[in-house]
Amino acid sequence: MSMFTEYFLMGIEHVKKYVSTKLKGFEKIEDLSCVEIGDGNLNYVFRVVNNATNESVIVKQAGPQARISESIVLSTDRNRIETEVLMLEAEKTPDLVPIIYLYDTVMNCCVMEDLKDFKIMRKELINGKKFSFFSDKISTFMAENLIRTTDFMLDPKEKKKMQKQFINPELCEISEELVFTEPFIDFKSQNILTNGNETWIEKEFYQDEKLHIQVAKLKQQFLTHGQALLHGDLHTGSIFINDQNIKVIDPEFAFYGPIGYDAGNIIANLTFAWARHVVQKEDSFILWVEETLKHTIQNFREKSLKILAESKEPFAKYESVLCNYLDEIIRDSIAFSGLELSRRIIGLAKVADITTIEDNDQRILAERLCLTIAKNCIMDEDIMDIDSYLFLIQRLKK
Ligand code: ADP
Ligand code: MG
Ligand code: MG
Ligand code: MG
Repeated sequence: MSMFTEYFLMGIEHVKKYVSTKLKGFEKIEDLSCVEIGDGNLNYVFRVVNNATNESVIVKQAGPQARISESIVLSTDRNRIETEVLMLEAEKTPDLVPIIYLYDTVMNCCVMEDLKDFKIMRKELINGKKFSFFSDKISTFMAENLIRTTDFMLDPKEKKKMQKQFINPELCEISEELVFTEPFIDFKSQNILTNGNETWIEKEFYQDEKLHIQVAKLKQQFLTHGQALLHGDLHTGSIFINDQNIKVIDPEFAFYGPIGYDAGNIIANLTFAWARHVVQKEDSFILWVEETLKHTIQNFREKSLKILAESKEPFAKYESVLCNYLDEIIRDSIAFSGLELSRRIIGLAKVADITTIEDNDQRILAERLCLTIAKNCIMDEDIMDIDSYLFLIQRLKK
């Protein structure tokens, strides 16, 4: 009986056997070596090298529980969602995603291109590296993959078919809890607060009812606004980068949701890198982030407008319909960035940009900077475009 006819969680030796059974060019198992390289919260990632040819591939498998916490039980169907989204993205932006070689709905794993010439963007930003081309690449990724899956661009039945294909209840529930609920309530088992920030966060987040009322609105929007096929986890740890290009990975949280959620994640995660370097007084890096924020949103808007000009929706001929639509998306992005800025400081899944600030006083400062920006984005109606966002953060950094 063949080995991979029933799901089980693979170890190193199983993965070698799997690749040698399934993949052309990797048949000789004695030539293969394999290491587990996963550093994410949920899944297992292996690199398999054929030492005879120097070719390598990545195997990503979904386990029945999250890596970060065994109590989070999750459908392994997330690997299907991730792989199918990567293949759809490859139709629109082939140079911005890894190639999928195969995927397997029994083993809940996929084999994909090894991005060995790239590095995880979050780590590069922590090291102060600047990327002049990033805003151009990420805005293309967003406009092509988000706008082209909206009702403006898809046949109505095709859109609903896609919505059903990516319904993703379990991973959405994680976001509903981790992003839209837990950072705002005194969730002691999971919200681990930095020494010295506890009282401030209790008052400003757990006890601020006006904040909760705005968060509740955004949560409803996340739950109900099926605008486009989102990536769903578009942070700088899901982006590989080198001196020429980016590759966006890990879309297992994909579902039909509000576009501003993805764009807000980009804004917030650039802002974590910014806050780190603000407290460490790295002026040229700070300026690069500010320009990148501006160019990313501006380019996203311009590229989206160009795509929408091809729309077959009769009302798309009115410029004001399209401009209102995009202005609203950008307004949403700013508000959702406030959610990501909150949950990555207060909630379970923290970001290294902030947690690796060694000096505790500096870390407290960086956290308060992010959380103050967050509250303004969520609550202040006047902060509704990228210029007002930049004005806010430039005022707060002083
Ligand atoms: P998770 O869903 O668990 O967060 P990720 O897809 O983010 O898993 O992958 C975790 C890590 O594995 C990444 O940070 C990266 O270091 C590595 N990795 C993932 N995909 C690739 C790839 N295609 N090429 C090289 N390394 C990869
Ligand atoms: Mg990941
Ligand atoms: Mg993931
Ligand atoms: Mg606002």
